[in-house]
Amino acid sequence: MSAKRIAVIGAGVNGVCIATACASLGHRVMLFDESKPFDQTSSASSRMLHGGIRYIEHGRIGLVREALIERDGWLHFAPDATRVERFYFPVYQGAQRGRWLLFAGTLIYQWLAGRFSVGRSQLHSTEDLEQVFPNLVTRGLRGGASYCDVVMDYELLIQRLVDEARAQDVHIVENTRIHRLCREGRIDTPDQTLEFDQVINAAGPWAARLLEVSGIDSNFTIDHVRGSHLILKASFPEALVLQAPGERRIIFVIPLDTEHVLLGTTEQKHDLPDPIICTDAESAYLLGILNQHLSEPLAPSDIVSSFAGVRPIVRPRVATIANISAASRDSEIEVTDRLISVFGGKWTSARHLGEKVAALV
Ligand SMILES: Cc1cc2nc3c(=O)[nH]c(=O)nc-3n(C[C@H](O)[C@H](O)[C@H](O)COP(=O)(O)OP(=O)(O)OC[C@H]3O[C@@H](n4cnc5c(N)ncnc54)[C@H](O)[C@@H]3O)c2cc1C
Repeated sequence: MSAKRIAVIGAGVNGVCIATACASLGHRVMLFDESKPFDQTSSASSRMLHGGIRYIEHGRIGLVREALIERDGWLHFAPDATRVERFYFPVYQGAQRGRWLLFAGTLIYQWLAGRFSVGRSQLHSTEDLEQVFPNLVTRGLRGGASYCDVVMDYELLIQRLVDEARAQDVHIVENTRIHRLCREGRIDTPDQTLEFDQVINAAGPWAARLLEVSGIDSNFTIDHVRGSHLILKASFPEALVLQAPGERRIIFVIPLDTEHVLLGTTEQKHDLPDPIICTDAESAYLLGILNQHLSEPLAPSDIVSSFAGVRPIVRPRVATIANISAASRDSEIEVTDRLISVFGGKWTSARHLGEKVAALV
């Protein structure tokens, strides 16, 4: 195999993993970002490396199983930047999903992981939950279920990924916006046109727009859904999964350290040119749901910070999304002459996606 000159556009988790995988095969790789690595969606995730337990009720069994295997890859890649966390579902009277149903879901999740399972699912009495979470509202509590999943130490993990890319001689070019691509391997930076044997469009939520402005047809388009998170000054011994009352949605509460938790996420349709921020309404919504479950509610002053990101949800050009939560987070790869475009994906599947793209190259 002869070494190729490759340009990767976008230094989010997908672009970095693609660049590293290509460079590890001996190709010469330049990785461009209009800002710096991990500055956009990849910095705004829920920090889980997971199969996505909620996709089980949407019947996306294959997707969940695949992601659970990819989760295992992260545990081996960065054991010190990943940890297993137990997630508890408290169930209240009148909840949309009862505790037996949730327990069944967690058992399926564990079974799908097979030998890659990171811990057993459990059924809990009300007393169990009161013991683990003394601050949980007890009125109407009907016990619950719990399962294990993987959470990343975000700062450490991105450092690992950037170090790995540099160790493979990936040349990272920051603050350089690519204005235009072409299928023959040329890209336009603000001040020059560069030529490559292969161009990989990994611009995340902006991948479809970059093709559009370049006048390149695609079979895929991206829907944008904003998700916001809050970081709160609060102490939780374990992670919680809350059912948003009256909705099918679930909200995660993940301890970051002994004094802070991550709370999220919302799901709002997003117009790409709009600012990607957590609005006051989203902030109030998230805090409101958490407080409905706490005997000593948190105050807005306990919000340390907030952040938002846009999920790139890929779909064929002809389809429309009827239900955002039910849409898959699958990725698609499209090859047009010397151009490969990547749409969608998630943190958990990024390394595997990188290997798939490198194999195509
Ligand atoms: C709220 C939320 C929670 C999530 N939680 C999880 C989770 O817990 N676990 C999980 O596995 N996944 C999660 N995801 C999904 C995951 O975070 C994303 O799918 C993933 O980060 C997308 O990475 P990316 O590299 O494709 O995009 P990005 O990280 O957005 O990277 C794209 C890069 O391209 C650059 N760029 C764009 N246009 C140009 C251009 N013209 N020229 C140069 N550079 C350009 C941008 O600056 C950006 O850095 C979550 C997503 C959201 C929004």
